[in-house]
Amino acid sequence: MTKALLAEWLDKAASCSLPGKGVSRLFLTKEHKRLLGYLRPLMEHCGLESEMDDAGNLVARKPALHSAKTLYLGSHQDTVPCGGCYDGILGVLVALLAVYELREVELPFNIEVIAFGDEEGTRFNSTLLGSTAVAGCFDPNILDCTDISGMSLAEALRRFGLNPDNIPQLTRNKEEAIGYVEVHIEQGPILENHRLPVGLVSAITGIERHMIKITGASGHAGTVPMHLRKDALVAAGNYISWLDTYSKTTKDLVGVVGKLDIYPNSVNVIPGIAELTLELRSPHGDTRRQARKELQKVTAKLVAQGFLVESELVYSLEEVICDQELTGRLESALVKEGIPPLTLFSGAGHDGLAMAHLCPVAMLFVRCRDGLSHHPDESIEIDDALTAKDILKRFIKDLASDF
Ligand SMILES: [Zn+2]
Repeated sequence: MTKALLAEWLDKAASCSLPGKGVSRLFLTKEHKRLLGYLRPLMEHCGLESEMDDAGNLVARKPALHSAKTLYLGSHQDTVPCGGCYDGILGVLVALLAVYELREVELPFNIEVIAFGDEEGTRFNSTLLGSTAVAGCFDPNILDCTDISGMSLAEALRRFGLNPDNIPQLTRNKEEAIGYVEVHIEQGPILENHRLPVGLVSAITGIERHMIKITGASGHAGTVPMHLRKDALVAAGNYISWLDTYSKTTKDLVGVVGKLDIYPNSVNVIPGIAELTLELRSPHGDTRRQARKELQKVTAKLVAQGFLVESELVYSLEEVICDQELTGRLESALVKEGIPPLTLFSGAGHDGLAMAHLCPVAMLFVRCRDGLSHHPDESIEIDDALTAKDILKRFIKDLASDF
């Protein structure tokens, strides 16, 4: 019964998408509006008060009679283009179901289930608008970010019927925030390899992105002798092979050169300029800083060979260590449900990165098939999601009885 209900909720949410493969639901689009049209009555059907805020978050609230303290649950509503049915929305619906099943229980604290508007940041290249607004670390500069049509985020919010001027007022009170707990699909293969339905998250990775421009010398591909060449693409290859080897041999570090442009990019011309992005992720700041030092050695080597290298750190986000007490409570709920506890770190960013500015955060991952996510074939077992729901419910009840 519950299984069919959750499956139906997930299906209906997934149908709020652009046509085509997978789920495409970008922030402040018609598809987003359709999802809100489905979610809002669903929240009210679950006995919760619902409110749309000016950052594009949909908030469902289970009020307590005599307490200002609030436990925050939820995840995000948006997807990447051609994404899956579970990334984000699963955490909203699982939390909603847990709270719905507790509708007869009076709790000594408020619960807010928040469906954050923009986590992926695909449309405006601006992540975590919703959660930074709630957490009080909103950067107003992102309102000037534009989508591919040139529309600014501020303008898109207004056209959606929201008022960006009110965003700073959405910040919750730190003293009243108990914590933020998010259920999310793992987006990796570890739980599946361990044959476990769910797992605890130790930390959400820190991320840094470097933009590197290498200038060598362009020239005729047939006439410049090999020993006289300064091929910028060959130089770029040094970064790529270093990063791959270094990340494979360093614990808890992943890295990628995700973007590479060469000029003039012609079949018979030696590449004179190469521009690449180099991204490093680790839940340990020291590991990332050490990687950065190694990166500088690669640069120094290329400079010694006569290349001009301009390297800039263009994006940096510190890791968030999940709160020990909240995670311990999740762990005991998990053990009581008969699941052996496994702890893993999140290599993906999540709303918890922002929510950590407000309160302690904890996360519960749900196994996904083949570790696949940000992909139309993203898949989970509904039973695993129900296990996560039972753990969350138990966590809330145990927290209430100790309150
Ligand atoms: Zn997500």
